[in-house]
Amino acid sequence: MKKSVRDADASGRRALVRADLNVPLEDGDDGSIMVGDETRIRASLPTIELLRDRGARVVLVSHLGRPEGEDPSLSMKPVAERLGELLGADVALAPAVVGPEVESMAEGLADGDVMVLENSRFEKGEAENDPDLAQALAALAEVYVNDAFGAAHRAHATTHGVAQHLPGHAGLLLERELEELTKVRDGAERPLVMVLGGSKVTDKIGVIERFLDQADEILIGGAMCFSFFKAEGRDVGNSLVDDESVEAAKQVLPKAGEAQAMLHLPEDLVLGREFAADTEIKDLNGIDVPEGWMGLDIGTNTAAKYAKRIAGGGTVFWNGPMGAFEMPPFAVGTRVVAEAVAGAEGHTVVGGGDSAAALVQFGLGDDVDWLSTGGGASLAFIEGVELPGVEALADA
Ligand code: ADP
Ligand code: MG
Repeated sequence: MKKSVRDADASGRRALVRADLNVPLEDGDDGSIMVGDETRIRASLPTIELLRDRGARVVLVSHLGRPEGEDPSLSMKPVAERLGELLGADVALAPAVVGPEVESMAEGLADGDVMVLENSRFEKGEAENDPDLAQALAALAEVYVNDAFGAAHRAHATTHGVAQHLPGHAGLLLERELEELTKVRDGAERPLVMVLGGSKVTDKIGVIERFLDQADEILIGGAMCFSFFKAEGRDVGNSLVDDESVEAAKQVLPKAGEAQAMLHLPEDLVLGREFAADTEIKDLNGIDVPEGWMGLDIGTNTAAKYAKRIAGGGTVFWNGPMGAFEMPPFAVGTRVVAEAVAGAEGHTVVGGGDSAAALVQFGLGDDVDWLSTGGGASLAFIEGVELPGVEALADA
């Protein structure tokens, strides 16, 4: 167990809080840049509010997008403004990530004040976990809190290096994520049903391998299934498959026979001529994709079969859409699975940016037990990989 922000000695002290404020940005009517989906800002509020209530002086830091050095279009300004509105308080934006000006701003904070540092990726040392940057960040505060679960699988200066200099505590969101995902990883109610889709097997191979012996059912959909079909020597037409994923699938298939879990692959598909919403479509009662077609969704029989397994799950973990759900003709499989997960009586946990977006698109975002804010981090954690952003925190 790691020390919790609840036990942090933060009253009257400066707390550097690494939050995940990496939200999508949109153009406003007046040409300004605005926050799009603000889920991640809202998810960060409980930790910020707890610290303010305790009289801490909050210095927030996050990355935003993938800037190459300083980039005004990826400034934290719109995030700081929106955060201020949500908190009902003034939130000052620092002109940089670290440096003398930022230090004097931090020193000027009163109890309960909040300031936001500039985009941590404006500093090249962030992704390099540069010790000097970590030291400069640590100089801004007396306590460190990591609430950025979505970035916890990365050893960066704001998620890892800084905790070498300050006592590190887990934020409330990070704690809840670990608690929910631990239920999937270690203490699952049986049967444990893993639903995996999306585009790349390579990202999820570790999860499939681990859960072959931990889960009861593994349901495969999305483009991922074509890597398995190709590995079995079947025709996949123009379906999305990369060689690396086929190699990964080839490693898994021989193990599936003796494994505890049943590995399920689709038995029917929805095909399209091209990757487009208005393309010619065809249902295939089978899995050998003819020349000139691509598989873009699981078929209705497969979706119904998967839905039944999900309904019977004691614990259900879902990552990765069942098809190219962004296009309505290929969204049915994902919708049926999403509805099954939302309606399941077992404990339901969903990870992955696109799977979460699909759930929200279908109006089911509130109907699962936990919607993880971390895609890569949630997969790494359940696979059994240590998360550098968690490991660096102080032991309770
Ligand atoms: P998540 O973000 O939930 O982890 P991924 O990023 O792995 O999911 O995959 C999501 C993407 O996979 C979606 O953009 C979806 O369009 C795509 N996808 C799913 N099935 C197919 C398919 N059969 N062919 C092409 N793309 C697919
Ligand atoms: Mg994705």
